Amino acid sequence: MSKSATVLEQHRSHPSNKTMRALVYGGPGLKKWTEAPKPQLLHDTDAIVKVDITTICGSDLHILKGDVPEVSIGLILGHEAIGTVESIGTGVKVVQVGQRVLVSCVTSCSICRFCREGRFGQCLNGGGWILGHLIDGTQAEYVRVPYCDTSTYPVPPGVSDEELLMLTDIVPTGFEIGVLSGAVAPGDVVAVVGAGPVGLSAIKTARLFNPRSIVAIDLDNKRLDQAKKFGADVVVNNGTSDPLEQIMKLTGGLGADVAIEAVGLEATFELATTLIRSCGHVANIGVHGKPVSLHLEKLWEKDVTITTGLVDTRTIPNLLGLVESKKLDVSDFVTHRFKMDQMIEAYDTFSKAGTTGALKVTLTP
Ligand code: NAD
Ligand code: ZN
Repeated sequence: MSKSATVLEQHRSHPSNKTMRALVYGGPGLKKWTEAPKPQLLHDTDAIVKVDITTICGSDLHILKGDVPEVSIGLILGHEAIGTVESIGTGVKVVQVGQRVLVSCVTSCSICRFCREGRFGQCLNGGGWILGHLIDGTQAEYVRVPYCDTSTYPVPPGVSDEELLMLTDIVPTGFEIGVLSGAVAPGDVVAVVGAGPVGLSAIKTARLFNPRSIVAIDLDNKRLDQAKKFGADVVVNNGTSDPLEQIMKLTGGLGADVAIEAVGLEATFELATTLIRSCGHVANIGVHGKPVSLHLEKLWEKDVTITTGLVDTRTIPNLLGLVESKKLDVSDFVTHRFKMDQMIEAYDTFSKAGTTGALKVTLTP
């Protein structure tokens, strides 16, 4: 057994009478669905939430690849959940025991300099992306949610848990870091590199702005088929065709107005920067574990804007409104459904999307 696996065993080998099942990280390449201590209230603004539905994110796969070194061995992964509030701290003012809530992947203290601007991802008081990253996450029977009043949303009637789950991370990510940061405008030609759940979220929410054409680029034909269903007008397999040629054809040789990177690799970031027209926007969503080359020698005189970012989930209220009023359909992301005890099988299915066709997998107790 590797050293990390031994640490994993030791970390979780003392089941008390207050235990639960959870997906525990054991270092790069290692994970285990195992017994873990049930979370307790630590601060007066915390809630303990019973997880009714959770999912796996591309970022969890990055963690398991070792791309996110700050994740410590023994941590429970997962940052997306809909759940029922089991207990609350004495300082909680809004959230109530028994209430069903959407748990945002990003935690907000609500009062720091960044939270006051809606930039919850940059929270200075221990918020930001902490669930399943810096503190135990949602791939478990229970999760402790810090600053629960400002980091959860009441579940509205008439929207399914599966749809709500898509609003905890991927749809706000595609929308905020792709479409809004990329400043998609009516009539634009939008290139989206990577048609995973996040790229598809960017495609779906870009449609809200009535672009002229959305071009989805991926190596996986299954994903490209999904991209068409999600609203892409043109799909390009960059393993077999040249996306630049296609974009140039579509734009009379100018280049894309907006290029959204939704993979997290050097090659895909570089591709996004080659597809862009002068004065266009490159919006990087991908989580990068390695440095990328930025070809300023070509880009400097093109007046290109390049944005990066961690999702804030500040648009959850708007997105909830769009979903509630049926103006945005997010019911088609879930391809596979599992029970929590099948967590390892769910990870296998999700990580082999090329063969399984998985987009989002759900896990319920
Ligand atoms: P995913 O792995 O499911 O999808 C990535 C897609 O990229 C796949 O369809 C894959 O076939 C495609 N791909 C891989 N290599 C490619 C290449 N060379 N050229 C073209 N396509 C290629 O991931 P996802 O869940 O959709 O997430 C996408 C990225 O967004 C990840 O890096 C994830 O960590 C990141 N993310 C960022 C934030 C944020 O706040 N910025 C939040 C959530 C996720
Ligand atoms: Zn804050």
